[in-house]
Amino acid sequence: VPTVTAVIPSSVADALRDAVSTRGSSLDSVVTTALEQHFGTNRHRAYQYSTSAALVQGVASGGTRSRDLLAHGDFGLGTFEHLDGEMIVLEGQPYQALGDGTVKRREDEFRVPFAIVCRFLADDTFDVQSADSLDALELACDPHRESDNLFYALRVDGTFEHVHTRAVRRAADGITLLAAAEGQPEFHLNALDGTLVAIWSPRYSSSFSIPGYHFHFISSDRTKGGHVLGCSGNHLHVRLQVLTEYDVRLPESGTFLKKDLSGDTKAVLGKVE
Ligand SMILES: [Zn+2]
Repeated sequence: VPTVTAVIPSSVADALRDAVSTRGSSLDSVVTTALEQHFGTNRHRAYQYSTSAALVQGVASGGTRSRDLLAHGDFGLGTFEHLDGEMIVLEGQPYQALGDGTVKRREDEFRVPFAIVCRFLADDTFDVQSADSLDALELACDPHRESDNLFYALRVDGTFEHVHTRAVRRAADGITLLAAAEGQPEFHLNALDGTLVAIWSPRYSSSFSIPGYHFHFISSDRTKGGHVLGCSGNHLHVRLQVLTEYDVRLPESGTFLKKDLSGDTKAVLGKVE
């Protein structure tokens, strides 16, 4: 990842410092977002590391460096080494929702075995007056997706009556996703403000992505979160971004190179993701 040194006016430096602190984001992320918006680059690009099929087969050690991942996006979801929790990336900041129900804000450098990120910039905005289930929320979002053959990022903010989450607990090396997801801790959160971070992927993408909607949740106070199994809420504000460029980076070393990834992962992904 290149490093840029530039001389800028102190007024711009002040604004930059303010943006970093108010967004709870990193300097790298704020500067990259600003430059990308200025030059109009990566407006519809998603960046993914590794594949869902590899994750299903338990390829969850090592991975890309968090700093490299976050250079490609400020919004997204994924997992951690040894499936130790659910990743939520929001406003450039990665959070780790752990199996004990806590959420850790990660500011250190760590490895990411699987994640999808983008530079979030909404193409469409709408409100969902009421959704009494996750299915109802998905149905309300469906008409805003122009195609079943493109990818989408969705950000849903609001007060949730109920959010049912799961957070995978650290698994032994090489254990499959199905085995790891069995008997994982689930949480029922009531009446709280927060954000759903979602990626919608086409059906044809099941060998590398997770077809359909994939929601992760993080509360506004950043203390609760996880992979979403169900939710309900009123007056939800939805922002949607179309993703027409999809950059998949594959691990160049480790178990990814030897695993048999030829099987159909649709059934397992439907069950656990
Ligand atoms: Zn998930």
